[in-house]
Amino acid sequence: MKAAVLHKAGAALSLEDVPVPKIGAGEILIKVKACGVCHTDLHLMAGEWRLPKLPVILGHEVVGEVVEAGHGVGNFQPGDRAGVPWIHSTCGACEYCTSNREPLCPAIVVTGFMVDGGYAEYVKAAASHAVAVPQELAWQDAAPILCAGLTPYRALKISGAAVGETVAVWGVGGLGHYAVQIAKAMGARVVAVDVAKAKLELASRLGADSTVDASQVKPDEALRDLGGAHVVLCLAPAREAILQGFNALRRGGTLVLVGLPPGDFTLPILGSVAKGIRILTSGVGTRQDLREVLALAARGKIKTVAEACRLEDLNDIFDAMRQGKVSGRRVVAFP
Ligand SMILES: [Zn+2]
Ligand SMILES: [Zn+2]
Repeated sequence: MKAAVLHKAGAALSLEDVPVPKIGAGEILIKVKACGVCHTDLHLMAGEWRLPKLPVILGHEVVGEVVEAGHGVGNFQPGDRAGVPWIHSTCGACEYCTSNREPLCPAIVVTGFMVDGGYAEYVKAAASHAVAVPQELAWQDAAPILCAGLTPYRALKISGAAVGETVAVWGVGGLGHYAVQIAKAMGARVVAVDVAKAKLELASRLGADSTVDASQVKPDEALRDLGGAHVVLCLAPAREAILQGFNALRRGGTLVLVGLPPGDFTLPILGSVAKGIRILTSGVGTRQDLREVLALAARGKIKTVAEACRLEDLNDIFDAMRQGKVSGRRVVAFP
């Protein structure tokens, strides 16, 4: 099968013919139909995290058709539509797995990092952690939801944002374009913040009530002029965004940190305590979160803005992403 393979940190992906994976008990083999291109892959390719498996096929927003089900698989059969997210598998038994926090499982296995992912014609998955993909969704629209949609969905869910409250989405990239729509679907008043005009225009088209161009005005002041945010969802991988987002909060507000800028950050302790600020972090979501956000998309509440590409285009796309030139999502589509 054709696959884009990473051989070592810092290298480009190389397009190769590799064997189709062999499945074992509890696993399914999926003919990949689409795989979203995630910013996280840039961190992996750069070797910012130690790569446990090399060579490795990246890609953790995978959807496709089941072509084979291994012994003991009861929830999928050939012909079914399946999705494989960042979480390939977890132990299923620890305190995290049994309390709706499976991303924290110490035995987590990650797709497209610890095991091969979806930049390939076939991928194998643990049937226990693969998720059914609703018929209503085109492959290309479904794929990015598996990470770029799931991550802000979980973050907004744990933020506790209530109907009518102001949610500021800091950074309207792949995750942000979903975050705007999810917050809207939750009944929030949504303010989108970014430094790129095109991304703010996209946010408006997707239903943002207001936009703030952080390249033109001080975004925290602009938010305070709007009454302050009950929730700031910080998706931008920029350190200044964290303090700006913090300063944009109302009393009792919640800052949810998702984006990963390099280095550390500092926030004022007095301002946090005196104003009753909650600071949360959120990574990916659970299988159940994924089912919920896919259902939201199937009902037309969130739309994917994605452009199709081929495996051959991946290196160029990653170059463009490094320069911040990609708005919406790129999705590798397979014929
Ligand atoms: Zn991702
Ligand atoms: Zn576990």
